[in-house]
Amino acid sequence: MSDPAVTSPTALSIAGSDPTGGAGLQADLQVFRAHGVHGAGVVTAITVQDTQRVHRSLPAFPNVVLEQLRVLLRDVAPAAVKIGMLATDDVARSVLLGLDALAPGTPIVLDPVLAASDGTALLERRAWGTLCEIAQRAALVTPNVAEAGALTGRDASTRAGAEEAARVFALELGARAVLVKGGHRDGAPDDLLAVRGDDGTVALEWLPGERIDAGPVHGTGCALSSAVAARLARGEPLRDAVAGARAFVARAIAAARPIGRGARVLGLG
Ligand code: PLP
Repeated sequence: MSDPAVTSPTALSIAGSDPTGGAGLQADLQVFRAHGVHGAGVVTAITVQDTQRVHRSLPAFPNVVLEQLRVLLRDVAPAAVKIGMLATDDVARSVLLGLDALAPGTPIVLDPVLAASDGTALLERRAWGTLCEIAQRAALVTPNVAEAGALTGRDASTRAGAEEAARVFALELGARAVLVKGGHRDGAPDDLLAVRGDDGTVALEWLPGERIDAGPVHGTGCALSSAVAARLARGEPLRDAVAGARAFVARAIAAARPIGRGARVLGLG
C-alpha cells in the first residue's frame, strides 16, 4: 500500500463531542480513518452522554468556533467537510461565517442534526433558519424523516411525502442534493436521493435498503454523512459516494457491538 501520509486527503468534521465515541466528532474521525482519510475536527458543543442518553449539552463559545475554523483553514485545505451538531444559532452563524475560508468548490455534507434518538434537542429552534442557509452551501444534506419533516413542513414519513420534502429542500431551501434517509420510516428503510440539475429540475432516485435488526445502534446518521464526506474527499462522484457510504454503514450496523449498558456502537472494523 502507498504511504497514507503522502496520499491521504484531509476531511474536516465540524460537530459536537460525544464522549462514548459512538456519534459526533469522535465517530466521524473513526469513519474518516476507516476510509484512509485524515480527520481534522472543529468542536461545536460538548455533550455529556453515555450509551443510554444525552445528559446535557453545552455549546462551544461561538467566537471560539469561528476562530478554530479561521486558524485551521488558513493552514489546512480539507478536500471535503462534514457538518453535524450545531447546538445554537450563534454557533451555527459562526460556522456559516467560517465556511467563507474554504477553498471554492470544497464539498460540504450537512447532517441537519436536530435531536438525539432519546429526544434531547441538539439544535435550538431559532437556529433552523441558519441551518437552511448552510444547506444552500452544501453538496449534500442528509436529513432523516423527522428532520426532513421539521425543516420542510411536509410529512416525510411516506414515500410520496419524502419526495415532496426532497423537492422543497432542492427548490425552496436551495440544497443542491438531499438524501432523505428512510431508517426511521415503517417498512423498508429505502433512502431517497434528490439532485437538482442546472436547469432547475430535480432528479429523484430511490435507493433500496435492508433493515438490519441489531437493536438500537448509536451514531448511524453521523457515520453516513462522514462516510459520504470521506468519499468525496477521495474524489468519488456524489452518487458513488452516497452508495458507498450506505453500504459502509450497513456493514457497520451488522457489526455493531455493545460497549456499555445502552445502544450499541457501530462496528467500524
Ligand atoms: N451526540 C452528538 C454529538 C451527535 O452529533 C449526535 C447525532 O448527530 C448524537 C449524539 C445523537 O446520536 P443518536 O441519534 O444515535 O442518539
